[in-house]
Amino acid sequence: MSQAPAVSYADFYRQSIDQPDAFWAEQAKLIDWFKPFDRVCNYDNPPFARWFEGGKTNLCFNAVDRHLKDRASQPALIAVSTETLTEKTYTFSELHAEVMRMAASLKSLGVQKGDRVLIYMPMIAEAAFAMLACARLGAIHCVVFGGFASGSLASRIEDASPKVIVSADAGSRGGKAIAYKPLLDEAIRLSAHKPDAVLLADRGLAPMALVAGRDHLWADLRQQHLAAQVPCEAMDSTDISYTIYTSGTTGKPKGVQRDTAGYTVALAASMKHIFDGRPGETFFSTSDIGWVVGHSYIVYGPLIAGMATIMYEGLPTQGMDGQPDGGIWWRLVEKYQVTGMFSAPTAVRVLKKQDPALLKKYDLSSLRALFLAGEPLDEPTARWISEGLNVPIIDNYWQTETGWPLLTVANGVEATRSKFGSPGVPMYGYRVKLLHENTGEELTQPNEKGVVVVEGPTPPGFMQTIWKDDARFVNTYWKSVPGKLVYSTFDWGIRDEDGYYFILGRTDDVINVAGHRLGTREIEESISGHPQVAEVAVVGVADNLKGQVAMAFAVLKDPAQAQDEVQAKKLEAEIMKRVDGDLGAVARPARVRFVTVLPKTRSGKLLRRAIQAVCEGRDAGDLTTMDDPAALEQIRDRMAS
Ligand code: AMP
Repeated sequence: MSQAPAVSYADFYRQSIDQPDAFWAEQAKLIDWFKPFDRVCNYDNPPFARWFEGGKTNLCFNAVDRHLKDRASQPALIAVSTETLTEKTYTFSELHAEVMRMAASLKSLGVQKGDRVLIYMPMIAEAAFAMLACARLGAIHCVVFGGFASGSLASRIEDASPKVIVSADAGSRGGKAIAYKPLLDEAIRLSAHKPDAVLLADRGLAPMALVAGRDHLWADLRQQHLAAQVPCEAMDSTDISYTIYTSGTTGKPKGVQRDTAGYTVALAASMKHIFDGRPGETFFSTSDIGWVVGHSYIVYGPLIAGMATIMYEGLPTQGMDGQPDGGIWWRLVEKYQVTGMFSAPTAVRVLKKQDPALLKKYDLSSLRALFLAGEPLDEPTARWISEGLNVPIIDNYWQTETGWPLLTVANGVEATRSKFGSPGVPMYGYRVKLLHENTGEELTQPNEKGVVVVEGPTPPGFMQTIWKDDARFVNTYWKSVPGKLVYSTFDWGIRDEDGYYFILGRTDDVINVAGHRLGTREIEESISGHPQVAEVAVVGVADNLKGQVAMAFAVLKDPAQAQDEVQAKKLEAEIMKRVDGDLGAVARPARVRFVTVLPKTRSGKLLRRAIQAVCEGRDAGDLTTMDDPAALEQIRDRMAS
């Protein structure tokens, strides 16, 4: 933690809101510029905030090249896999060389500034090389979570229209190889857009059939470009660095788009003020590069800060010898002297089932804080890990859209008390408000429940827009409160008398399974594709381990089919398999239950909140608009059976 604060967090925050230009101009000094900017924030066309106009910089230069002067031989990327039982450290200079080889390989496949490159990879070093190589070339990368299956991947390929796709033969989970190449081939077949080339890392985990003229092996291209020198492209501040897809209320995923300079500055600032990371130290984020946390805090954030970053492939409960080991993460903390660790509450709940002695087995004295994000942090989990590690547990609330935390405590500015159950206070640059659900009035009294919104201009690092769809960006996020142009997080929240926020769940149809954000509509669309399904409703239901699980209620075209228990089980398995194939196992409902009618309003709108309440044993609320009250009874019956 910092010494006696030069400035209180309250003053720091105030300056960011009252004098944003001065504040962010100061933060901009944390990164290297090829050309200084002329204007800090252009908010002439709300809600589009354009940061650092006129400046030129490069994300990869800030993450890698600028460290070569002082720390070329220090660790940069530590790739650990308890799946393939491999562990390799790349120094900044080695990382630089690999990134240039990857950049040269991509260039040889035709990639230029502004082209899209889709990355569908497991958690291996090559994935980071590919991201950094794209940033180096000014190509827009789009990482798709490796757990997604062909259907999800195809819709992302179609929307991103990549020139090249970087992938691998397989991922691995619990020692079992998961072949990626057939999923990718199928996704390309399904997509109207076809990439010019596919670059594949062959890990030797699954056989690959290469498509002549299209598919290339990374090992071959790397060999051809061993001594490649590829300079960093001087990017305009507002040039796009990457897109990442996330789920919303419609079935069509949204490509969250980010700029270059704003993102680089935001990450540099957050590493200092929130994550309290220092050059030469090691950061360990257990997320996945397919999620925004991984982009920001496995790859770019720690590297920009001159830290080594651990990239981890594997379960939290499997050791380097392939045997069960619930202490593997703590072993890595000791071995690499990790100072900051970032994970998700679900992972901690998994570890909570392990022998508590494992927390005492290793020397964890290097660790200064554990950051958790992605889903609500329940008090028992927070207490358990806090007592076990004896370091502050820092909850942060953010979204794919924000790119970095919106609510937390900035211990790098001033040591600030955390409160169990609350992610914290608004971060610098964020004008966070609570609005009344119906009237849109601002709620100013403590402990009133409202929708968490952000007034523009949104800070650097925040999404610029939705890829190729400014209108959708404005209409989806900024028009939900009549008469006011504010960004809606679509989360309920309250603020206590000390200004700490508490997040109470989504206002929309998005669910959060083990920290993974899923749209119930996407799951419904997949299930509706089953030939026997007439209608389906998917809701998120509270779960002790995963936070939430998806629960599906389906009406069959021939309801008699569900009466036979064996047949119902068979159909349930088929439907689950279908979701696995379309979206990936991550989206598979915990159960599919069959009903003859779904609870709807008289105008035909599904009453998801009422279904969810019944599933969780809560009061279903106001049902005056409900068409057929017996429908909820069926849900209650099926849940009890
Ligand atoms: P994602 O875009 O996948 O990061 O998911 C963002 C959503 O996850 C938010 O809108 C919240 O509903 C939830 N979320 C993220 N972090 C937290 C947190 N610390 N506490 C409560 N909910 C969270």
